[in-house]
Amino acid sequence: MTRTLSIFGATGSVGLSTLDLVRQHREQYRVVALTANGNAADLAKLAREFEPEMAVVADEAAYPALKEALTGTATKAAAGPAALIEAAQMGADWTMAAIVGCAGLPSTLAALEGGKTVALANKEALVSAGELMMAAVERSGATLLPVDSEHNAIFQCLAGGRIDQVRKITLTASGGPFRTFSLDQMRAVTPAQAVAHPNWDMGAKISVDSATMMNKGLELIEAHHLFPVGLDKLDIVVHPQSVIHSMVEYVDRSTLAQLGSPDMRIPIASALAWPERIETNSLPLDLAKIGRLDFEQPDLVRFPALRLARAAAEQGGATPAILNAANEVAVAAFLAGQVGFLDIARIVEQTLSGYVPNAPHSLDALFSIDAAARAYAETQMDILPDAA
Ligand code: NAD
Ligand code: MG
Repeated sequence: MTRTLSIFGATGSVGLSTLDLVRQHREQYRVVALTANGNAADLAKLAREFEPEMAVVADEAAYPALKEALTGTATKAAAGPAALIEAAQMGADWTMAAIVGCAGLPSTLAALEGGKTVALANKEALVSAGELMMAAVERSGATLLPVDSEHNAIFQCLAGGRIDQVRKITLTASGGPFRTFSLDQMRAVTPAQAVAHPNWDMGAKISVDSATMMNKGLELIEAHHLFPVGLDKLDIVVHPQSVIHSMVEYVDRSTLAQLGSPDMRIPIASALAWPERIETNSLPLDLAKIGRLDFEQPDLVRFPALRLARAAAEQGGATPAILNAANEVAVAAFLAGQVGFLDIARIVEQTLSGYVPNAPHSLDALFSIDAAARAYAETQMDILPDAA
């Protein structure tokens, strides 16, 4: 039986890896919707190959180009936020949520409300609206499968185990490209250096998050929602080789780990075929060639984002949404050359200490907090820490 798929963020790193797996298993899957932000040409090319019923660009300005490029195909072109929701409500058996940022939240939530299976890469949505998303899962009976390599590893290590018998969950972190840099060295790094991750090939935003280690902070909050063992049982260890993707320790001190080459097609394949397995073309794990696995404690002084994210998770309410919104603004400013690398965590910290909003009880409330935090973060670009 073929499974129907919708892929949100199809033109990105995770989206393309997902389609690469579909390409290898065409007989098992049928793509019904593909989406992108503004890249109509790439989206149309994918639509011509995978023949979905619908192709959506989030940016309405890209609609004429998409429509033109899809002339003569059976794929309907659409654009804008309402079309993204419409695509999420098509009832696909399996949806890949791989839009980057909180911009993915409405479609991810709409897909969850449909009660089918959602593979989640879009971590910012869960960080900002964890309670709303988990409530939607509860209500609709949707299956939420984590795609982030760490969370997919934990999910696999929990199969056959019981969450109330977990003593500790350890997220591994590569430490990013600046793992051994001093603060002075970090002050001078360029966007090009920050997006060049030593182990993983990813989109620009998550690559910068990996360099500041905010990515691991966001993943801590993500894990807190997906695996409710309590924050005190969630730990982080730096493991530069990115071979062990995370670990679960049970009460009897038995620790299970999931290992593999640092290739997102492996966790995506696990979510795509779940509860079955499918073959991938990914490289096998050659431990003798790797030779050694190293581990170290994360350094909260050089990587303050880790400290900020844990504090936001402890505070709960709207705080993780503010952390995420400020980080999205700061990372975009860094990539645009407007602020330095160390300014990213500074802008996030200043935004977090700027005001205390109420907890979001609805998607509208969440988005107004998100918008206010973004506006506040914009005002923090030029303010030095000691002047704030
Ligand atoms: P990417 O930048 O390569 O791709 C992002 C996709 O989202 C593109 O298709 C883009 O067109 C679309 N998009 C961007 N802004 C949008 C908007 N405002 N509205 C609608 N669509 C928009 O990003 P990526 O690296 O593939 O990451 C996607 C998500 O997966 C992120 O949340 C990231 O944290 C998570 N993730 C990625 C990896 C990885 O290896 N790349 C690993 C784990 C988790
Ligand atoms: Mg990850």
